[in-house]
Amino acid sequence: MSKIFNFSAGPSSLPPSVMERAQEEFRDYGGLGVSVMEISHRSREFIEIAERAEADLRALLDLNDEYYVLFMHGGASMQFAMVPMNLAHISDTVDYVDTGSWSTKAITEAKLLTRVNVAATSRDDDYDHVPHFRDWRLTKSARYVHITSNETIGGVQFHEFPDTGKVPLVADMSSDFLSRPIEVHRFGLIYAGAQKNVGPAGLCIVVVRKDLCRKEREHTPSLLSYRVHAQHESMFNTPPTYNWYLAGLVLGWLKREGGLQAMEVRNRRKAEKLYAAIDRSDLYHSPVQRPHRSVMNVPFTLLEPELEDRFLEIAKARGLVNLKGHRSVGGIRASLYNAIEEEAVDALIEHMESFEKTTR
Ligand SMILES: *Cc1c(COP(=O)(O)O)cnc(C)c1O
Repeated sequence: MSKIFNFSAGPSSLPPSVMERAQEEFRDYGGLGVSVMEISHRSREFIEIAERAEADLRALLDLNDEYYVLFMHGGASMQFAMVPMNLAHISDTVDYVDTGSWSTKAITEAKLLTRVNVAATSRDDDYDHVPHFRDWRLTKSARYVHITSNETIGGVQFHEFPDTGKVPLVADMSSDFLSRPIEVHRFGLIYAGAQKNVGPAGLCIVVVRKDLCRKEREHTPSLLSYRVHAQHESMFNTPPTYNWYLAGLVLGWLKREGGLQAMEVRNRRKAEKLYAAIDRSDLYHSPVQRPHRSVMNVPFTLLEPELEDRFLEIAKARGLVNLKGHRSVGGIRASLYNAIEEEAVDALIEHMESFEKTTR
């Protein structure tokens, strides 16, 4: 089989060495004669896996004791509901910044549960940028301010974070978690569905300041309470054990690769190369304003959209797969998460350039 470069936006590529290790241990974990999937989450072996994953994540994020790390079910979308349920009452106000499809989804869900003020939106500009912080209309008494640090579909990313003072900043970091160092102390809560940068779908990692987990609102089901999950170390019920194990392998890999600083350098280099190729061509176009372009998801269009199918077909024949843009926006999208090697970006650029020549 010739080499496949997988640019899927999610679920997405995992590091080859992680997949090999998982394969080696698939039927026989640590000499037990059975798979990780087939043992109790309360067994000594699994507790060890769980604790190592948390310790590695804490080391990567340089996390202090003021935060819990929770390994949860339900993907990032469940957090759209859990955040308001746990951090606000029905009559409270919460602020959201709308930068694209994922923030819109988070807003829709929060509106079911509390009063939402959309403090800023770039909707009228087709979500081609992050609204400038000085233009945000924040609520003084807001329970939190919610942002989507990277819009996976639109390819818009926060490259700096606002200071929201005493109001906790909450971020959906699903598609750029662990892609760069972050100052966690500036956030009250960070959540990330695993399937973009950390592991298989279904698992969601939540990093939350302990004081925000004291009391969920009335009538909150136990499984949707941060307090309950924290008290039970993410084992109130059976957690997604195999996903947790795989995420642990990825976290170990990240540490060996040099941590988040090394990832940032690598990720920037990949994205800069690709954006440069787009900007110097007459065929490809990035719809996002330069200072707000995402390092993780690079959407682009062809000036002649009728060429897109052929572009994708030839790409596929060259082993470049899953480049089709999201069904809601069309075009092309290359996702360059941590596990994507520079070689993949080089191959993509080569394809883009040779394809452009054939269209002349
Ligand atoms: C993928 C994604 C989600 C949704 O994740 P699910 O696991 O499908 O719930 C939410 N937010 C962002 C930014 C995403 O990229």
